[in-house]
Amino acid sequence: MTEKALMVRCPSCGVEHAYSTENPYRPFCSKGCKAIDLGAWASESYRVEAKPTREELLEDMEKLDGVELEQFLLKNLPDTPPQ
Ligand SMILES: [Zn+2]
Repeated sequence: MTEKALMVRCPSCGVEHAYSTENPYRPFCSKGCKAIDLGAWASESYRVEAKPTREELLEDMEKLDGVELEQFLLKNLPDTPPQ
């Protein structure tokens, strides 16, 4: 008899492992990988909060429209240095 395991790729380290409901860290392969991913997410949002880059602002802007976008721009546009 052959047991067919569903293979999934760990989003953190990319290693293929059998997906199991017994794995509390799924879809990650291990506790460490889940921690790494959460840590990356946390530092990413912190970084954005602290100092958004142009690309990050543009990315956020794509999710907004109309009044929301206008308020977003007013809040996030850096002061233009005098030329
Ligand atoms: Zn992993």
